[in-house]
Amino acid sequence: MSDVSRLPDAVAENWDWQRRGACRGMDAAVFFHVDNERGFARRHREASAKQVCASCPVRAECLQHAISTEETYGIWGGLGENALRRLIAAKRRSPGPIA
Ligand code: SF4
Repeated sequence: MSDVSRLPDAVAENWDWQRRGACRGMDAAVFFHVDNERGFARRHREASAKQVCASCPVRAECLQHAISTEETYGIWGGLGENALRRLIAAKRRSPGPIA
C-alpha cells in the first residue's frame, strides 16, 4: 500500500504546478520504468524524459515535490532515481529549505 502521509494537502495551490508541466499529456512510460528495464533501453528512456524536463517551466516545483514527498520512482524535475535518492538522503540529514 502506498504511504500518502508525505503528500501535500489536497488543495489546488499544492498541485497546480502539475497542470503546467511540459510532460502533461505525455505517456507516463517515458518517465517511469517498467520492471527489469535496464541497459540501453533505460538510458534512452531516461534521456528522453530529461530532455522534456530541461525546458519545463515547473521543473523546480516538480523537484521540490519529489524531495518533500520522498519520491524515488521515475524522473522528477529532470533527475533520475539515484540523484533523487541522494537529495532525499541529504534532506533527511539536514532538514530545511532546498537550495
Ligand atoms: S520537470 Fe519533468 S517530470 Fe516534472 S513536471 Fe516538468 S516535465 Fe514533468
